[in-house]
Formats: sequence, structure tokens, C-alpha cells
Amino acid sequence: MAIVATTDRAPFATADPDAVARFLTAGGEPAYRADQARTWFWRQLAPSFEAMRTLSPAARAQLAGGYTFSTVAEHRKREADRGATVKYLFRLQDGRTIETVVMHYPATERGRARTTVCVSSQVGCPIGCTFCATGQSGFDRNLTEAEIVDQFLAASRGLKAQQRALTNVVFMGMGEPLNNYAAVVAAIRRWARPDTLKFSPRRVTISTIGLVPFIERLAAENLPVNLAISLHAPDDALRSSMIPVNRKYPIAAVVAAARAHAERTGRRNSYEYVMLAGVNDSSEQAGRLASVIGRHLTHVNLIPMNPVEGSPLHRPSRDRTLAFQRILQAAGISTTIRDTRGLDIDAACGQLRARELAPTPAG
Ligand code: SAH
Ligand code: SF4
Repeated sequence: MAIVATTDRAPFATADPDAVARFLTAGGEPAYRADQARTWFWRQLAPSFEAMRTLSPAARAQLAGGYTFSTVAEHRKREADRGATVKYLFRLQDGRTIETVVMHYPATERGRARTTVCVSSQVGCPIGCTFCATGQSGFDRNLTEAEIVDQFLAASRGLKAQQRALTNVVFMGMGEPLNNYAAVVAAIRRWARPDTLKFSPRRVTISTIGLVPFIERLAAENLPVNLAISLHAPDDALRSSMIPVNRKYPIAAVVAAARAHAERTGRRNSYEYVMLAGVNDSSEQAGRLASVIGRHLTHVNLIPMNPVEGSPLHRPSRDRTLAFQRILQAAGISTTIRDTRGLDIDAACGQLRARELAPTPAG
């Protein structure tokens, strides 16, 4: 029996509405069935074509024969932080796997409650950062637009029973989103369409290692997304040793492109900084970081490193992280320390998948 089913059926999420209507009328169904199916799919978050109750059984069967309902299938689902973090391992149609994480944040005096989905953009990642499980696992392929769109939908269906909905999307799962530019931008535009989810790009954050030409292209895209720059080091020698692509796009070029994006969109940039004990966490490095990024339209997220199996790198003490934060704040840079989610389910970038892949299955 074939375990891996590839299919030539088009994904429903990215199907052209007119083509769906033509497909249904060719099979003898009225054209309005296509609109009904789209409402079930995007608004009601139906779990399958079969569940689209107002469609005739024949129309449901026809859709199932012509379209793939979802390009991602739940393979594993694990919860942590007493249900506040849910991590999915999704199987793609070619048998490869990706991960998607849903995180709930309670309301605080600074803002409303949020439910954020962290989506993947690639299977693996070609950038190869030393501290990242995904980077160490190599690169397989880009995700398609449908595979990105469907992660959002699958997570939303899972939330529906709890009467929750996604409020934010971050491209911080597996892969380098700007290395799969066209599919990522198409997915963001797809979610935003009035006939799909009307999900505003302002609620979407693209996290990038700093691929300068694509940051520039994004700034010209007229798409008000947020940009998070994974900087991680205040000088080029150190950054190149952690992130090989820094040799091509050094810090000054990345920061200049990020600034131009912020000025063009009016949206504040955030810089991500993974705290690595004894590597990038000294007070002197905090001072240098402050002068490299400046305080105009910037925000820094300090991320204590999540452990990566087989890596000698690890996070500094809480005191060291707080001292680093104080230096940035004294320089007028707003800085938060990211709370670490899902440590007990390996929810850091690429880690659940790394574990799943560890005992290499035969064939
Ligand atoms: N490729 C993009 C987006 C995916 S990684 C990027 O690098 O920005 C999302 C974030 O997770 C990045 O900021 C990345 O540096 C961080 N990250 C990777 N490995 C980590 C680890 N072991 N612990 C904590 N954060 C990690
Ligand atoms: Fe790729 Fe981002 Fe991991 Fe670097 S940190 S290897 S760019 S996913």
C-alpha cells in the first residue's frame, strides 16, 4: 500500500473561484454551489468537503474528486504550557513533514489577548545557522502557497471548537520566508482577500535572517506586514560565524534595508537576538548592538536559546539576560525578553521535527 499519496488535484485554498464554479456546472451542479463551498471553507472552517451540509452529496463528492481539501494533514499534535501552546507536525502530500505552533497569550494592561500561529515557509532551511535545529537539519524544498495558507486554516479549525480564532501570524517556523518570497507574499495576500479570511497583513510578521534584496522588494510591495530581523550579533565577524549568509549581506546592509522598510511602511522593525551564553551576551556587546541598530522605529526581542540536541550552545543566566536588556533600555531601545514557550514539547524552531526524524524510518 502506498503511504505517500501524491495527487494532481488542485488545492482548494488557492483555487480560482471561477474555475470552481465552471468545474461544478460542468458536472451538472448550479454555479452558486461554488460560493456555498467557499463560505463553508473560509468562513465556517468546515473540516472536510463532506461536512458542507448545504451542498448535495453529489456536489460534495465532485469537489472531493477535483480538489485537495487540505495540503497539510495532522500527523502529531502536542500541547504544552497547560494548553497555551499547541504544536502540530503536519504531513505534506509528498510525505515530508513541517511544524506549525499555536500560542495563546492572555490579555495584559498593554493589549488584548492574542492567539498567534507560527507557520513554516520551507521544509528545512538552506541558511544553516549554528544555533538552529532547522538549519542543522538541511534543506528539502520550498512550501507552496497552498501549504502555507493551509497551515493557517488547519490551526483555525483546531481552534474553532474552543471558540477561538487566530489574531496574528508569524513566519517563525521552519525555513527562511524571504528565500521563498513569491509563495509567502501570495499566501499573505490570499489570507487578506475579502472573499477568504479578510486577515490583515498588519497582523502578519515575517521573520528573516536578512536577505537584503528581498527586504527591499518587500518594502516596495505595498503590503503593510511587520518585519522581524534576526540579528543575533553586533559585529560581522561573530555574525558570520553563526550565520553564513552574513558574508553576503553584512550587518550594515541588513540594518539599512530594515530601516528603509520601516520608513516606507511606517511600521516599527523588531530585531530578534538569540541569547547564547559566552558568545553574544556580554555588556560590551549589548552596547555595540545599541549603536548598530539605533533607537528610531526599533524594538529588540531577546530570546533565551532553546536547547538543540547535540549543540554545546546554551542560554545565559536570567541575570545576564536582564543586564543585557538594561543596557539596551538605557540606550532608549524598547526591549522585551521573549517568554519561552513549549520547552517540554521541543517547540523551538525545528525541534519537534528533528526528534520525529531522528530514528530514520526504513524506506
Ligand atoms: N528563518 C527565519 C525565520 C524562522 S526562525 C529567521 O531566522 O528569522 C525564527 C526565529 O527563531 C529566529 O529569530 C531564529 O533565530 C530563532 N531561533 C532559531 N533557533 C533557535 C533556538 N535554538 N532557540 C531560540 N530561538 C531560535
Ligand atoms: Fe534558517 Fe532561520 Fe534557522 Fe537560520 S534561524 S537556519 S535562517 S530557520
